[in-house]
Amino acid sequence: MSQRRLFVTTALPYANGNFHIGHIMEYIQADIWVRFQRMQGHAVNFVCADDAHGAPIMIAADKAGKTPQQFVAGIAAGRKPYLDGFHISFDNWHSTDAPENHELARQIYLDLKKTGLIETKTIEQFFDPEKNMFLPDRYIKGTCPKCGTKDQYGDNCENCGAVYAPTDLISPYSALTGATPVLKNSEHFFFKLSDPRCVDFLEKWTQDGKLQAEVANKVKEWFSVRTNPDGSQSEGLGDWDISRDAPYFGIEIPDAPGKYFYVWLDAPVGYLASLKNLLEKRGESYADYMAAPGLEQYHFIGKDIVTFHTLFWPAMLHFSGRKTPDNVFVHGFLTVNNGEKMSKSRGTGLDPLKYLSLGMNPEWLRYYLAAKLNARNEDIDFNADDFMARVNSDLVGKYVNIASRAAKFLPDGKLVASREQSHMTSTNLLKLVSQNFEDREYGKAMREIMAFSDNVNSLFDAAAPWKLIKEGKADLAAEKSSEAIQMFRVMTACLKPVMPGVAAAVEAFLQCAPLTLENAATPLPVGHQVGTYQHLMQRVTAEQLDALFEAPAAPEPEKLTPGGEELAPTITIDDFAKIDLRIALIVNCEAVEGSTKLLRLTLDVGEGKTRNVFSGIASAYKPGDLIGKHTVMVANLAPRKMKFGISEGMVLAASHADEKQTPGIHVLEPTSGALPGMRVR
Ligand SMILES: [Zn+2]
Repeated sequence: MSQRRLFVTTALPYANGNFHIGHIMEYIQADIWVRFQRMQGHAVNFVCADDAHGAPIMIAADKAGKTPQQFVAGIAAGRKPYLDGFHISFDNWHSTDAPENHELARQIYLDLKKTGLIETKTIEQFFDPEKNMFLPDRYIKGTCPKCGTKDQYGDNCENCGAVYAPTDLISPYSALTGATPVLKNSEHFFFKLSDPRCVDFLEKWTQDGKLQAEVANKVKEWFSVRTNPDGSQSEGLGDWDISRDAPYFGIEIPDAPGKYFYVWLDAPVGYLASLKNLLEKRGESYADYMAAPGLEQYHFIGKDIVTFHTLFWPAMLHFSGRKTPDNVFVHGFLTVNNGEKMSKSRGTGLDPLKYLSLGMNPEWLRYYLAAKLNARNEDIDFNADDFMARVNSDLVGKYVNIASRAAKFLPDGKLVASREQSHMTSTNLLKLVSQNFEDREYGKAMREIMAFSDNVNSLFDAAAPWKLIKEGKADLAAEKSSEAIQMFRVMTACLKPVMPGVAAAVEAFLQCAPLTLENAATPLPVGHQVGTYQHLMQRVTAEQLDALFEAPAAPEPEKLTPGGEELAPTITIDDFAKIDLRIALIVNCEAVEGSTKLLRLTLDVGEGKTRNVFSGIASAYKPGDLIGKHTVMVANLAPRKMKFGISEGMVLAASHADEKQTPGIHVLEPTSGALPGMRVR
């Protein structure tokens, strides 16, 4: 077999939160395929990255008091326990904010511009006069123009389902500041997807039989009819708005100051950037790698991002003179216990890190998902009872048991010759399973393996070596057991892409070379010495599953996030010690002309001079309220230049995350006796 060169990715997760079980499912699906390809001797580069840009991250960072770079770095730091924990074998994890991505995104854009597929149009958009920024649809709220429900988003109504433009909302307000947005003109950049060249190319690319049939059919609809934001229908593909105005966390568009690529323009470029970063770390040439004939490129994605991957992405690549994907593998969503246990506070109800922390074997989940997954874009359900049955009866009861039962009848742990003609059936199994892995029909593969396992078990039961021993037929017992061990090795090779950890333990037990679906067809030689059998896998317990799905103590999900936001990631005492908090006396406090939000505080921190600090508390306090009071300030915060002057620190104040829900800002005040300059620790 000639060696294939494969470049495989999973979708880039948005870097505004930790992984949920849906991410882990996709990574496991792709990882099984990648491990299978590697076992076949193919050269795979399997990469992913954090999707770091866009308005939601910029706003979340702002709320958290961090720069967007710090914010996404914090998210990235939390990825490893999940990936290692579930045995996901990425070769590289990168970020779309990395220099490779900035460079590649700009280059692709410039190449598209050369082909005449970029144009600019002036559009009218809502602008938040307080934040001084254009508002994304999701940050404009107002009353639904169709049914009159209040507090609906700028793109659609959650009550009646109407789809509209933000400008259709009645009494719109900014979800960021509550201010009434104003309409402002802005020049936007568009990728001309409606250009006949694009339409021609995409009709061919999406309908040439490579995409899953259900995906190709869905995509086909977009070529004939599309729904506009105002609910009306248009013919054919629409142009794609690829720019956003500053302030925006993203990549600045070449020769267009203040204009940034819309996050979805540079996100998929992150696949290439992660690959480039990996190859350069290895001292290999990215250009050579991508130009090599026969390179295959595959993206595993969820069904919610098909448009980006089957229209925009291949068009961007093709018209910028780059290689297009060989295929896009679309999977459905994962529901948990038929959605029963789903709740806002617990996401999809199966917290991946909680799963690991309960000591649950990651390879149980890998096997369970493999048993459920097929090559179609279909939703699958994690069902706790089904999970327990498949792990305990299939994996432990059928597969692992064969080894534990058979090992004890081998004379001195050595394999003997066998008259059984099961070699043919095991060769068939290896071929069938190989094909099913290649086709991403993991469920079929698992069923084949378990049917085979049933056979091996019934042959072993029928032979009953424990009786043979009593009857003085130890030779026959050894023969039947050797046969079972040989078949166990074949099954292990078949399960290896799914359960790499178990397979490694089996290879150690059998003292055999790393298993492949090819070498497993050749039985271990007569006289081969196997090691001592050690238990390969525990059963899952009902207690573990109960604990996994146990609701956190408080009954109301809304109350589970104190103050309306999740606790920040754990820090060490050393992290805390970096923040120098001091008692400050508010010597003076005055309004700031030109700002409705800020008060100017003059603080005495016992330094023999005062400090000037701006604080966004004007909605809660009149200047006179605070003069003469003590408070707590961050005394070692780098001075910050603001519109109204330099702020030399920060005063601590409490507020609910959603000020609309629980209004009020409360400046901290120590109990009496605290003096300016005292450290808070
Ligand atoms: Zn409505």
